[in-house]
Amino acid sequence: MATISENIQQLHGRIERACLQASRSVDTVTLLVVTKTFPAADVREAFLAGERRFGENYVQEGVDKIEALADLRDQVEWHLIGPLQSNKTRVVAERFDWVHSVDRLKIAQRLAEQRPPGLAPLNVCLQVNISGEDSKSGLAPAEVAEVARAVAALTGLRLRGLMAIPEPADTLDAQRVPHRALAALLAELNTALGLAMDTLSMGMSADMDAAILEGATMVRVGSAIFGSRPRPAAQTPPPTVT
Ligand SMILES: *Cc1c(COP(=O)(O)O)cnc(C)c1O
Repeated sequence: MATISENIQQLHGRIERACLQASRSVDTVTLLVVTKTFPAADVREAFLAGERRFGENYVQEGVDKIEALADLRDQVEWHLIGPLQSNKTRVVAERFDWVHSVDRLKIAQRLAEQRPPGLAPLNVCLQVNISGEDSKSGLAPAEVAEVARAVAALTGLRLRGLMAIPEPADTLDAQRVPHRALAALLAELNTALGLAMDTLSMGMSADMDAAILEGATMVRVGSAIFGSRPRPAAQTPPPTVT
């Protein structure tokens, strides 16, 4: 079995190849290491391999790891990427650096009010249901402009961009379609609203290459680094980028 550090090295190679194919500079893509379900010791191993950004899905699990790795707190960023209920916003506003999963104005308002004034503004992305799946959380594309305008005006938050979890697809071309749509939406909103959103949070272990080809600036990768999680979702291997 490859070690976490070996997997991270491999993953950076994969990011480089996708960037090369996309004619993008490798430093335009940031790796967010998704640590949900994996123990703090694994996060530390990723830190020792050079990683500085970690993503958690569940608030309490994230807080537990932030506490277990308190000695690293000044050197790392913690990102919440999973669904956020309004009764959990306070601890998130106090403890995290980013929230990728804002899907209602009310959540953003609470985070803004609860962000401690001594901390830098909380970075947020709006989650978009880009594939239009009934079961997925996220704003419908047509709702995003109104929410983006309101969120951009909140002090305590910094609106950084858009996030999506597209429906799984088997081929690289099919995977590119929703990523392209999210990138187009970001560009359109920046122009229409006069915003400077700089983050496209898209691409996971299975579709990272397609996301990079379509302009992802932050890819969120877990299983390609740590192995499959306890309840693994059926997954197809990523298409090869040549
Ligand atoms: C779990 C998760 C990821 C990482 O998925 P992998 O397939 O393990 O790379 C990325 N984003 C979100 C929102 C997730 O929940």
